[in-house]
Amino acid sequence: MTSDITTPATQPVHWDLHYDIHLGETWSRFMDGLREQRILANECGSCARVFVPPQAYCESCFEPVTAWRELPSEGVLEVFTVAWHGFRGGPTPPYAIGGIRLDGASTLLMHWVVGAEFSETGDVRAALPFGTRVRAVWSQERTGQILDIAHFEPVD
Ligand SMILES: [Zn+2]
Repeated sequence: MTSDITTPATQPVHWDLHYDIHLGETWSRFMDGLREQRILANECGSCARVFVPPQAYCESCFEPVTAWRELPSEGVLEVFTVAWHGFRGGPTPPYAIGGIRLDGASTLLMHWVVGAEFSETGDVRAALPFGTRVRAVWSQERTGQILDIAHFEPVD
């Protein structure tokens, strides 16, 4: 038996979209802080969890989160994966994509971590052990967006 369809058809598609996202009051305040090299978190008045990035509502209490504080730009790398291939606008690979618990935070901030010496044949945890302290490296030009922190790097 034969079929009229021999191979699924494909067509090349290119999307290059530019659009604006409304950040809302909470994230706008966070981004304004980044422009000034300040990492702003907010704290739930009911359970005292400290969110960074900040949240408009506490995910545990469902209460509005309105108390703000500045956190240090250092913390502990708690989870990560290694990117071996780069993409437009990203760091030069290999680099880590990590969850960083800034000192005083209850949540993890996801960001790029560079500066570790990864080898494809080596143990990535040897290059970036759990509990590694990292610090934010600020971009020279800041425009109020998450990449105002260029990346994080291990603290010597
Ligand atoms: Zn809460």
